[in-house]
Amino acid sequence: MSSRGLHPALANGGRPSGGRRARSTAPAPVVVVKRAVPFRMASREAHPQNTVVNAGGVSIGTGALVVIAGPCSVESRRQIREAARHVKAAGATMLRGGAYKPRTSPYDFQGLGRKALEWLAEAGRESGLPVVTEVMSPEDVDLVGQHADLLQVGARNMQNYALLRRLATSPKPVLLKRGPSATIQEWLLAAEYLLSGGNPNVVLCERGIRTFETAMRNTLDLAGVALVKALSHLPVIVDPSHGTGKRALVGPASRAAAAIGADGLLIEVHPHPDLALSDGEQSLNPEEFAAMMRTLRPQAMAAHA
Ligand code: PEP
Ligand code: MN
Repeated sequence: MSSRGLHPALANGGRPSGGRRARSTAPAPVVVVKRAVPFRMASREAHPQNTVVNAGGVSIGTGALVVIAGPCSVESRRQIREAARHVKAAGATMLRGGAYKPRTSPYDFQGLGRKALEWLAEAGRESGLPVVTEVMSPEDVDLVGQHADLLQVGARNMQNYALLRRLATSPKPVLLKRGPSATIQEWLLAAEYLLSGGNPNVVLCERGIRTFETAMRNTLDLAGVALVKALSHLPVIVDPSHGTGKRALVGPASRAAAAIGADGLLIEVHPHPDLALSDGEQSLNPEEFAAMMRTLRPQAMAAHA
């Protein structure tokens, strides 16, 4: 029974029976109660209609596919301005770029911090695209919030509760990536920290999970996207760049994500992927991105089906 969300409860609330009055020979009646889902505010039970999150004027969760594109890291003023121009021309709706980078090795490029935030905001203004960037620590939430329209919590920080609690008090919407080893319930409970702490503007992002498979950087859990859309009212977007780790798979995975009902895509695009300081092998160049965007049009999606 418990596998269907139901579990038996004793009529006396599970207290040990004893005393004269409890000494009946009749079996205690069993009452079946529905167990409430633990992610109360993220759940569709609490909120049947889809939530639409406004990020700098872009609505996420309306049914129209939002495409967030740009380099993994902001590397220079020129690089992010060039990236912004290209992704805008190809039809992207938001610009991404990392200023604070969560790298597996402390010897890898860590991001250019405040300077990168300023360049990113400038490129966003110039191109007319709202911007998304990662915030890694509670102390940086105000600063990053001054420059970005959507604050990304990276996969490695999905369960950084101090960061989530701080972001819950930010006026800016949050993009919450799924942890590399997080279950769907853990992911929705992480969202619950933001919602219950006072920030209703949460967008979820599936970016691949760690499985036994090593042929790709991660295993992109697209069925999980459909499940989360059924369980929760929050918008869900897909990151096929980190989800696959391979440039050639970004297009097919993007079309699959759109077909399964994702509200948007987060795609790494670099003016010169071979020169990228991070994630070049999964980044599209501007021409590849433009070609991929054309395949996302409804007629083209049907032709690829
Ligand atoms: C990123 O978006 O560049 C990034 C570091 O993503 P993730 O947290 O999903 O690894
Ligand atoms: Mn990256």
